Amino acid sequence: MKVVIIGASYAGVAAALEVRKRYEDAEIILLEKQATLGYIPNGLHLYWENSIVDLDAAYFITKEQLERQNIQCFLEASVEKMNTVNKTITYLYHGRELRLTYDKMIIATGSSQLSQKISGSDGESILKYKRYPEAVAALAKMETSQSITIIGAGPVGVEAAYLLSKQHKKVTLIESMDYILFKYFDKEMILPVQERMIEMGTDLRLNQTVSAIESEGEQAVTVRFGNKSVTSDAAILGVNVRPNLSYLDEHIQLHLDQTIAVDCYMRTSVEDVFAVGDCIQLSYGDGDKTEYIPLVNNAVRTGIVAAANLIQPETAFKGSLQTIGTFLFGYYVASTGMTEAESVFSGQTVKAYCQKVSLTSLPDADTVTIKWIYDAASHVLLGAQLISTSNILEKINTLALVIQTKQTLEDLQQKEYFFHPSFSQMISATNFVSWLEVRDDGNEN
Ligand SMILES: Cc1cc2nc3c(=O)[nH]c(=O)nc-3n(C[C@H](O)[C@H](O)[C@H](O)COP(=O)(O)OP(=O)(O)OC[C@H]3O[C@@H](n4cnc5c(N)ncnc54)[C@H](O)[C@@H]3O)c2cc1C
Repeated sequence: MKVVIIGASYAGVAAALEVRKRYEDAEIILLEKQATLGYIPNGLHLYWENSIVDLDAAYFITKEQLERQNIQCFLEASVEKMNTVNKTITYLYHGRELRLTYDKMIIATGSSQLSQKISGSDGESILKYKRYPEAVAALAKMETSQSITIIGAGPVGVEAAYLLSKQHKKVTLIESMDYILFKYFDKEMILPVQERMIEMGTDLRLNQTVSAIESEGEQAVTVRFGNKSVTSDAAILGVNVRPNLSYLDEHIQLHLDQTIAVDCYMRTSVEDVFAVGDCIQLSYGDGDKTEYIPLVNNAVRTGIVAAANLIQPETAFKGSLQTIGTFLFGYYVASTGMTEAESVFSGQTVKAYCQKVSLTSLPDADTVTIKWIYDAASHVLLGAQLISTSNILEKINTLALVIQTKQTLEDLQQKEYFFHPSFSQMISATNFVSWLEVRDDGNEN
């Protein structure tokens, strides 16, 4: 069996490794248009936060490691066309046009930071840094820039605002919603981060939709929103990404947002063609609802699922909860599943409850504020948000599992946990607490 995978980042690499694990004799070919593979999209932020000393360290896997698994990697191989009737793929390899046949194809070409609504956003002076060469260029530009405008207060934009303001840059952050990180948090939960951001000097412009970006040579960038504008040394596009699918065959069905339509086995509308990662929409929550949720964990899991279903449908994708965790302006914040704000679109009667819990039994213990979002009738947990000045990020994974396995608040009260006074409380932070003594009723809404 000849398996051709297009795109060698998280989704493509995960698929390749899983295909190798399952099919010892398969011929596996990875086509990647860049000169390197395995770059971590957050590499620049890792560098700014001093987690790595060089952008060259921001790789999660190498070509050699894949080749040791007998996975053939063609770098600087850009797929230009495909013909799913003849089962051929046409790609440019070091400038030469070549063709390849396949038995099974996995599309994993991911996404790029683009905006169709903001004119000028594709200009070279607008920094994006998902890819290694972009990150190198952005780093050089940032080092000589004192003022930076960031468009979009999602995780990328807010992390950039934090890391740049720590470097004493003058940061302006523009967001069309009325608070930051709205996809993941309810307003009151994320407000402490927003307040600290403003205290640290970020010029936060909420409820503002950017319409155009104009660059004046190498020197300055003007970002226009409403009848206002901000001119700075550099601008970062931190808006949602869009899939890279210009080479697609017309037989592969798309959603209205131009992502590839797949079933729960990652099969496209064409036999023997699968699509994974940032190219597709995913099932989100209960029912048939699908959404575009471009995150690494979804890319990896869908890659593994596609590989499992190459011959016949065996393993269904269990859905995404849009789980995230990060550190911003002095706070560890994490979220999984439904927010209270989005519950109005769910057709469910949903309740929310906030509690503040000490993290250990020690007298100076830090606390974590947890927001639980649950079905009013069944008490099944639907979403959770955490904020603390201590590192509570791993706890969100427990709560994601609770939601995935459809457990109730009552189940959560019974969740088993270890106790040690230095590391935990009498009640674990991820156990729903209903006692007045340990909960903060003031936050209930
Ligand atoms: C700045 C930034 C930071 C991020 N940080 C995080 C984070 O901390 N956590 C998280 O969960 N998510 C993060 N994300 C999202 C995350 O990067 C994506 O969800 C993830 O990379 C998707 O993996 P993928 O393999 O589907 O696609 P991609 O990572 O987009 O990779 C697709 C690959 O396909 C290649 N390719 C594209 N077109 C072709 C072609 N025609 N021929 C051959 N090859 C092609 C590309 O060169 C690329 O290597 C971040 C995104 C950005 C923009």
